[in-house]
Amino acid sequence: MIASTVARRRSRQVRIGRVPVGGGAPIVVQSMTNTDTADVDATARQARELADAGSELVRITVNGAEAAAAVPRIREQLDRAGCAVPLVGDFHFNGHKLLAEHPACAETLAKYRINPGNVGRGAKRDEQFAAMIEAACRYGKPVRIGVNWGSLDQELLARMMDENAARADPRAADAVMREALIVSALESAARAEALGLPGDRIVLSCKVSGVQDLITVYRELARRCDYPLHLGLTEAGMGSKGIVASSAAMAVLLQEGIGDTIRVSLTPEPGGPRTQEVVVAQELLQTMGLRSFAPMVTACPGCGRTTSTTFQELAARIQAFLRAQMPRWRERYPGVEEMHVAVMGCVVNGPGESKLANIGISLPGAGERPVAPVYVNGEKTVTLKGETIAEDFQRIVEDYVRTTYGRSTAAPPLDNKAVV
Ligand code: SF4
Repeated sequence: MIASTVARRRSRQVRIGRVPVGGGAPIVVQSMTNTDTADVDATARQARELADAGSELVRITVNGAEAAAAVPRIREQLDRAGCAVPLVGDFHFNGHKLLAEHPACAETLAKYRINPGNVGRGAKRDEQFAAMIEAACRYGKPVRIGVNWGSLDQELLARMMDENAARADPRAADAVMREALIVSALESAARAEALGLPGDRIVLSCKVSGVQDLITVYRELARRCDYPLHLGLTEAGMGSKGIVASSAAMAVLLQEGIGDTIRVSLTPEPGGPRTQEVVVAQELLQTMGLRSFAPMVTACPGCGRTTSTTFQELAARIQAFLRAQMPRWRERYPGVEEMHVAVMGCVVNGPGESKLANIGISLPGAGERPVAPVYVNGEKTVTLKGETIAEDFQRIVEDYVRTTYGRSTAAPPLDNKAVV
């Protein structure tokens, strides 16, 4: 993997529990549960699944008294399971009340997410916002001021629309809305600081659902402040649409050094795993060369030279195997996340790509001898054949991990075998 040359935008650093965000720290992957927070077992289970998949922060909605009361018990379950992932509380409408009435919840959470558009209306808005910031000050917690296109502060927007209409050269309504998002975040941050919350305990986000809008808003937000920025396309959608839209928007910003923590807000398929959003976020950062999370599998797309599904099955099997090992390997084999495995369909590109990987296999294409040469660190070491090629190759990968990453924290030698 070619090391990224992306210059990170300098921001302040905020610590969320043990996780640093901004200030040059690695870009943090976060996610959010979709269980009923009051259901302690289900929420703790899903938070652990997300953490095991690699989520470094897990947000849970705290939407009522039962949810607030559940938070310390969720934390206890996670701690008992050895899962230290920081929990972030997502508050809307009644956060001031819940934080005041449930001190154990306020104490347990590692960060509060406050949406300035959903804090309260009229005179109550400032008072309730202040109550939440005071709780953050009292318990020493950071906050994310998370503005969202769908719940933008309507009083602020109306004021800005009126001001715009009075201008000699009024701007388009969507430009005013984008500006209102930024103003809402910056004014709320300034107010939080005025209330006593240190600037190094504030993270900002301004989420929208349009790719071009997100890019425009975050470029401007990054220009106008040095708070760490949480990046994400809100309501990205399902499946490939959600993945493509999130990646398209965030890749542009990340390439410009904007974004200190990210979430991919995918709508899961019914019954589908919530952890997919974590995998997509990690793969976005890893394919951009910004961070490494799990060994990457290079596989060719296959073509008329692959007449069976053997090659696809092996590629899928190895990819799933590698990811499933990561919760254990992460601790035991430091550096394994940099490993590169190639699974190729035939002799055309197979040997060449395999030699560039730490371990590669080239399966027999149509008309080729039914053998599969394996390359380790660029050298052909063995030729597999028969019905157990998949099992044999998996065993070779496991041995390689154990002998290469179990010895030291140093990355295996790849010499000049950079992957492009
Ligand atoms: S490596 Fe072989 S099977 Fe794979 S796409 Fe190229 S020609 Fe087709």
